[in-house]
Amino acid sequence: MQPSTNVLICGAGIAGISAAYHLAVRHGVKDILLVDERAPLSLTSDKSTECYRNWWPGPGDAMVGLMNRSIGIMEELAEESGNIFHLNRRGYLYLTADPGVIPAFERAAQEPSELGAGPLRVYRSQADDPEYIPAPTEGYKNLPTGADLFLSPDLIQKYFPYLPKTVIAALHARRAGWFSAQQLGMYMLDQARVHGVEFVNARVTGIDTSRGQINSVRLSDGSTISTPRFVNAAGPFVKKVGKMLGVDIPVFTELHLKVAFRDPLGVVPREAPLLIWTDPQTLPWSEDERDFLAEEADTRWLLGEMPEGAHTRPEGGADSDIMLLLWEYHTKVMDPVVPPPLDDMYPEIALRGMTAMLPRFSEYFERIPQPMLDGGYYTKTQENRPLASPLPVEGAYLIGALSGYGLMSACGAGDLLAAHITGSGLPSYAPAFTLERYQDPQYQKLLKNWTSDGQL
Ligand SMILES: Cc1cc2nc3c(=O)[nH]c(=O)nc-3n(C[C@H](O)[C@H](O)[C@H](O)COP(=O)(O)OP(=O)(O)OC[C@H]3O[C@@H](n4cnc5c(N)ncnc54)[C@H](O)[C@@H]3O)c2cc1C
Repeated sequence: MQPSTNVLICGAGIAGISAAYHLAVRHGVKDILLVDERAPLSLTSDKSTECYRNWWPGPGDAMVGLMNRSIGIMEELAEESGNIFHLNRRGYLYLTADPGVIPAFERAAQEPSELGAGPLRVYRSQADDPEYIPAPTEGYKNLPTGADLFLSPDLIQKYFPYLPKTVIAALHARRAGWFSAQQLGMYMLDQARVHGVEFVNARVTGIDTSRGQINSVRLSDGSTISTPRFVNAAGPFVKKVGKMLGVDIPVFTELHLKVAFRDPLGVVPREAPLLIWTDPQTLPWSEDERDFLAEEADTRWLLGEMPEGAHTRPEGGADSDIMLLLWEYHTKVMDPVVPPPLDDMYPEIALRGMTAMLPRFSEYFERIPQPMLDGGYYTKTQENRPLASPLPVEGAYLIGALSGYGLMSACGAGDLLAAHITGSGLPSYAPAFTLERYQDPQYQKLLKNWTSDGQL
């Protein structure tokens, strides 16, 4: 007799694992098969910076709502597991040295607050300033939400003395920080297995439907599994798996790299939050280096203006000196290939790009530390909103397009997908993440004027 299952999930990245966890553990759904051609969490979900925030722009409050729910679930899991995945609450610190952008900086700070991310507290070195509560290095409980906006360079120096005096505004988003994605994923997977979820190491090679309904799924080990429900959680391959169902998933993939360096000079204190430089910049080069780079067309661009968004954070416990550096100075849209192509110039460019915010990184220019470079794909919809949705084939679902926020949103997206599958009450933000939204003429209008994708 042909083997059968109640739900077959394709993909054991953080999205598929979260879907399995929510179905099995929180809804008691029996007989779930999680299928992946690789080891769990090993394609994109172990390449991330592992950061989270509820600080997201509009339009509308759907992203803030989803992230608040997701972070709430992470806090519950941290509580029940003794914080096995080291959730911290150090925050994201957005920085600028450009007086011209202060009004825009203030406006941008208001928006997530008004959308439900928590209150905005403003500090100007005045007697009526609210009390600032610094973020502890570890732990996530009993801390402020919202954000602290510093418009006084003296206060920025007081609380973050390792930043240059040129920084004139800083926004500290507080329901934010980082965690171990691998440990969160493995914790959810272990819980799911205890509740009966089975993992199969194979590739999904085909999906059979009959009368517009899921019927069975073919695997690379030659088996065919009968099932009434199929979840596409294939990460950068959701489009390819969607084709097996005859459904076009409207996403594209962008290559994103990340480099880790040791910081033996202690340029960044180990207790620092995630530091983000929000100004465009030109890279620091010596006279000789400038002459050299100017000679060739394919290096000349390194002398011009480079984009905003360089960011870094300490990685590991008190005895570690590793820093993670990310800077998307060149966005490369490409079909996913595994392993992703790495760029040898990335470590040096990222290191130089950090010096606007952390000038002492230049002490490494003479002898650049051994870099550890990796990367993966952001799988994105055009407006950078995720998909946690039924598909137009009965019994088929999608959890994906989690872009550069898949770890922080996974618990919320899994919770939402499980509600769709089990027919439980849907949260107010559910329509914002369906595939159906693209059929709505109002949404099409909104898309034409979409300004910020909120992505780092
Ligand atoms: C450099 C970088 C930094 C990032 N930083 C952050 C961050 O700080 N915070 C954050 O929240 N997010 C971050 N992200 C994003 C986050 O990593 C992703 O959104 C998330 O990992 C996507 O998870 P996924 O489960 O959708 O995909 P994946 O982890 O790619 O999992 C998909 C799985 O599907 C499997 N699969 C595909 N096709 C098939 C098939 N036919 N049969 C069987 N199995 C199949 C694959 O083998 C894979 O295991 C970052 C990403 C990158 C690249």
